Amino acid sequence: MEGGGRRKGQDRKVKRLRSSNRGAKKQQQEEEEKGEAQEATAAAAAVKDVEDFTMEESQRIRGSLLRWYDENHRVLPWRTASRSDHRKNNDEARAYAVWVSEVMLQQTRVPTVVAYYNRWMAKWPTLHHLAAASQEEVNEMWAGLGYYRRARFLLEGAKSIVQEGEFPRTVAALRGVKGIGDYTAGAIASIAFNEVVPVVDGNVVRVISRLKAISANPKEAATVKSFWKLAGQLVDPSRPGDFNQAIMELGATLCSTTNPACSTCPISDQCRAFLLSRNSETVRVTDYPTKVAKAKQRHDFAAVCVVQIVEGSDREVLKDSNKKHAFLLVKRPEEGLLAGLWEFPSVLLDEERMDMGTRRKAMDKYLKKLFNVDVGRNCNVILREDIGEYVHVFSHIRLRMYIELLVLSMKGGLNLLGDDEDHSKISWKCVDGSSIDSMGLTSGVRKVYKMIQNFKQKQMSEHPIRVPRKKAKRSIS
Ligand code: SF4
Repeated sequence: MEGGGRRKGQDRKVKRLRSSNRGAKKQQQEEEEKGEAQEATAAAAAVKDVEDFTMEESQRIRGSLLRWYDENHRVLPWRTASRSDHRKNNDEARAYAVWVSEVMLQQTRVPTVVAYYNRWMAKWPTLHHLAAASQEEVNEMWAGLGYYRRARFLLEGAKSIVQEGEFPRTVAALRGVKGIGDYTAGAIASIAFNEVVPVVDGNVVRVISRLKAISANPKEAATVKSFWKLAGQLVDPSRPGDFNQAIMELGATLCSTTNPACSTCPISDQCRAFLLSRNSETVRVTDYPTKVAKAKQRHDFAAVCVVQIVEGSDREVLKDSNKKHAFLLVKRPEEGLLAGLWEFPSVLLDEERMDMGTRRKAMDKYLKKLFNVDVGRNCNVILREDIGEYVHVFSHIRLRMYIELLVLSMKGGLNLLGDDEDHSKISWKCVDGSSIDSMGLTSGVRKVYKMIQNFKQKQMSEHPIRVPRKKAKRSIS
């Protein structure tokens, strides 16, 4: 009775807290929306003042940039591979190479992408090879690049193009392919099919905002539109693909975010930010583009349980690598964050500071509902240990994971899970440690697995297995 009364009191307190939090959140949201609207108006006004490139300016910039690019561009596999391919479908091979590389390059640096690109092309050298791949294979190949939706769209796009029978050759047609946005369409159409269209990525925004000393918020829709217009005025009509690569290359190399090499820049005499910085001590070229505060990240919390199923019934089985064991992996839903990827069983938590007991209860409920694992009832708990916390940062979410290791010996062996599987609810599988090592898992799942391995190693060093010493034979004299 006493416990029940206290619980009711706590519930009321939580409700009051939640309701006052909701009020504060609403007010904060209204203020943010008002601020955003004011920023948008200011951006629209600032962008209006930006003059177009004159024909003469455009021609000078094109000439200087293309000369510099011809002499200095980086030799990258997606630039050379399709050029040396003289088969009938050379344009399509080039389009495929540009597509794969551009999608990989979104959010990832060139040195990392080169290795991924080469592995990808060795496995799926043409669009037709890719179209025959499974999502599972593509995810494995993509593991570590993040933003897995991009990999899914690449595969879906390849399948739809193969089905249609022809690679779309214009921006308008390419935009009809799922997952191909304005930037990728512009890159493919100009580089592979010579359509005179611009591309605008972060590098191009940086170069143009410095060329024109644009101080408007580069994320605002009106400013973005203006960048596309200005980029379109610069594109060289005879070499659109090379020009687009040249301006992106300048942004990726000389015109870097924090340390631009203006003294060796081929277009410094056209650059307004450079001119302003030379005439005023208070202006720096790095003032452009205007820095924008990052959008607030959502904070999520999850209980993650690495379920290891072993044969045997005491803790010594953990130290015996010859004993059969398996880890339970669950497939995420086909929509949303990390769609269709494998992970350890996890449950999203309502609040950050949930105590260990509450987290375990939530996990037990989940395991019982989905796998008929009734912890401690139809299985022996050999070990259940909190391993620690790990924060994984996605572009818009900070996910704090509370990780535990749960080692179970199933009555009836490893097959018990299989008997009660309900495929309509969830996809799951049990894999051994060596399979986990070779599977294409996300970096978050790998980190969790590494934490488990470190924990086990620590346990081993603190409590090593005692191997019984053989009795020495007595010598008979
Ligand atoms: S002069 Fe400097 S700031 Fe201007 S485009 Fe060249 S590298 Fe960038």
